[in-house]
Amino acid sequence: MSADLAFLNANVRTMNPRQPTAQAVAVSKNKILKVGSNQEIKQLIDKHTKTIDLKGKTVVPGLIDTHIHLADFGRCLMWLDVSSTESIVELQEKLSEKAKETGVENWIVGRGWNENRFKEKRLLEIADLDAAAPNNPVILYHDSAMICAVNSKALAKAGVSKKTIVPSGGSIDYDVKGELTGIFRDSATNLVWQAVPEPSLEELTKATAVACHEIVKSGLTSVHWILISETEVTLVKKLHAEGRLPLRVNVIVPEAFWEQIKNFQSNDLSMLRVGGVIIFADGYLDSKTASLFEPYDDEPSNYGKLLCTQQQLDLLVNTVLAAGYQPIVHAMGDKAVDAALNAIEKAPKKGKVPFRIEQAAVLNQELLERLKVNDVVVTVQPKVITTEFAVWSATQHLGEQRAKWLHPLKTLLNAGVRIAGGSDCPMEPLSPLLGMHELVVRPSFSEQRLSPQEALRMYTLDAAYVSGEENHKGSIEEGKLADLTVLASDPLTVKPEEIKDIAVSMVVVNGKILKD
Ligand SMILES: [Zn+2]
Repeated sequence: MSADLAFLNANVRTMNPRQPTAQAVAVSKNKILKVGSNQEIKQLIDKHTKTIDLKGKTVVPGLIDTHIHLADFGRCLMWLDVSSTESIVELQEKLSEKAKETGVENWIVGRGWNENRFKEKRLLEIADLDAAAPNNPVILYHDSAMICAVNSKALAKAGVSKKTIVPSGGSIDYDVKGELTGIFRDSATNLVWQAVPEPSLEELTKATAVACHEIVKSGLTSVHWILISETEVTLVKKLHAEGRLPLRVNVIVPEAFWEQIKNFQSNDLSMLRVGGVIIFADGYLDSKTASLFEPYDDEPSNYGKLLCTQQQLDLLVNTVLAAGYQPIVHAMGDKAVDAALNAIEKAPKKGKVPFRIEQAAVLNQELLERLKVNDVVVTVQPKVITTEFAVWSATQHLGEQRAKWLHPLKTLLNAGVRIAGGSDCPMEPLSPLLGMHELVVRPSFSEQRLSPQEALRMYTLDAAYVSGEENHKGSIEEGKLADLTVLASDPLTVKPEEIKDIAVSMVVVNGKILKD
């Protein structure tokens, strides 16, 4: 048999422990035909083979992101990007340009400004935006995503005035005369955001298709798309039917509308696969809604709370399992992780797919042992972990002792618990290399830093394992799917701080070169 595609002179990091490195790879159709030396691969080359001399570049298994919101990412890509603007004047020019191509009265949504980057060193004001786009409602998000600036048209469309009551958990800025300045913070941003119309299915399809291409460019060949809205069920079906999913998509559906995916046709080897059903046991640490055994350190009456009773959780896990899907329990606080494990321990033994807990953020020795015994895979988003420590101040809210047990990834790996990585894009930036970087350079509790090899495993082998796909994905081995990522340098040998800057040279999905 001859190869359709052959890579020679490469540094192949196979993630296969029996053959960790190789010089060359041959691909036939959508499968890996052979992994070996240049000499061995050359024997499979004939006149129809596309042969590429990689000149020492690194080939890793196609990278997998286990937590992404594809449609939201697509929507964000359609927004006006003002993240590079260094002055309010420059931002106004961009906005006015955008207004010219946007129909009068249509919304302009943007993101990425930061007053510290502006040479004027001040927040945006209503008048700044009115001057640039007087005929369009405008909402521009700060790069923290927690603040937005709006113009007069947006206020009018949203029916917001200086008399509007400030919602709890949010704030509104007023000037010395008590007038609105156009700045809304935290939950108050929703006062205006809720007036922005939902995109049509057609717009969403286009945006998500664009997002798919961005994802491939970042080196990913598979993603786990966590659906947020029911519209996305229709969207996934439409994208698949129109052949607009260039990478492998593992759909994960919230328990609230999971019945809608039951008639999905998919199998392990198709580009679209229905993976799991996500069940929320608790909320999030940053809003202090993650359920804890002991209260938050700086709020002695707040324990967070479970979103369902143990009985409800047990029932949901069993129902999902019985229907043939993977139950995925979102559990952040230690009490929620305990509840998730209770349900898992009572459930019938797993089939070929392991149990998955999303986050398992706050742990202790006992929970760790139960994760191991039950072969539960923990899925985390490394950039979110960095934010929890650096921005949310985990040590202050949880106390030093508990913060030590917040995402103790090295301890988990040492105990034999598998972990898979993701981005939570668009809440955090898309980039598996950035995720690996965060794991390797982790500044808080540096004893929990991972080696580059362990970090890479989270985006390859263990990311394939968590969805029960390790037999055909996650490593470069003969017979596995030809999903490959070619990197300009080797993440296992560059300086840790350089991992995030490694360029993606080429991406192969299902035997086809998608990025070159
Ligand atoms: Zn998410």
